[in-house]
Amino acid sequence: MAESTDNHDPQPMPSVFFGHGSPMNALEHNVHSEAWQAMGERIVREHGRPRAILMVSAHWYINAAAVTAMERPRTIHDFYGFPDELFAFSYPAPGSPDLAAEVAELASPIWIGQDHDSWGLDHGTWSVLTHVFPKADIPVVQLSIDATKSYADHVALGAALAPLRDRGVLIAASGNVVHNLGRLEWGNPNGGADWAHRFDDAARTLMTTSPERVVELANHPDHALAVPTPDHFQPLLYIAGIAAATGAPVTPFNVGCALGSLSMTSYSVAA
Ligand code: ZN
Repeated sequence: MAESTDNHDPQPMPSVFFGHGSPMNALEHNVHSEAWQAMGERIVREHGRPRAILMVSAHWYINAAAVTAMERPRTIHDFYGFPDELFAFSYPAPGSPDLAAEVAELASPIWIGQDHDSWGLDHGTWSVLTHVFPKADIPVVQLSIDATKSYADHVALGAALAPLRDRGVLIAASGNVVHNLGRLEWGNPNGGADWAHRFDDAARTLMTTSPERVVELANHPDHALAVPTPDHFQPLLYIAGIAAATGAPVTPFNVGCALGSLSMTSYSVAA
C-alpha cells in the first residue's frame, strides 16, 4: 500500500516545529523557505523518507481534538487579502486514515475525533511542507489544537504521541513562538521588536535545556505581547512534550524574527 516504508533506519524520526510566518512563504523562495527545504533534505538523508507526517497546525484551532481521517484531504485556503496565485495553490498529499486511527489510539483516554469532511490541509501545513517535501507524495494527517485545553495538556498530548517517531512518522508542528499581528512593523521585514526577541530567546533557552518547563513561558513578562492569542504558540508545546518525554536533544534553526512581531525560530528534535 502507499504507506509501505523504505525507511529501515532504527533511529526514530525527528520531530520539528516550524515557525511559518506569512502564507506568502508558500510561493516565495527566501531564507525561511530555504531553511525548510534544507530540513526536509536532511531528514531524508539522515533518517529516510517518513512513512507519514502528523502536522499540528496553528490554523486548525477548534474546541476539540480531531485528526483529518480522509484519504484525500483538500487544500484549504484559510485567509483573505492575498493574491489569486495563493488561492489557486494546491498541496495534493494523500491522507492516512491508518495514522489518524493510531493517533486516536495513542492519545486515549483523550478523545480524538476522526474528521472525514470538515477540514483538510490548511496553510499552516502546506506553506511549509511545499518546501520541506515539494513532491507532496508523503501522506499527511493534521491534528487540531483543542482550544479548551491548557498549555500543560498540549505538552502531555505531544508526549503521548511520541511513540509515532518509532513508527516512521514525522511529527511536525507549525505556528510562531511570537505572533502579534496587531504589532507588525512593515519596515522591519527581517527583525523583531525588543520584546519579541526577549520572548523568543526565553523560549529557546527553555526548549534547549528543559523543554518540560516551556509552560512557564505563560508567566514571562512579555507573554501577553508575544502570545496575544494562543493558537500560534501552542504547536510548540507538542514538540516540547516530545522532547521532554524522549530526552532527545532540541536544535533551533532559522532563528530570528520577521516584521517586528513574528518569530520564525524553529526547532528540530532528533535522537
Ligand atoms: Zn499562521
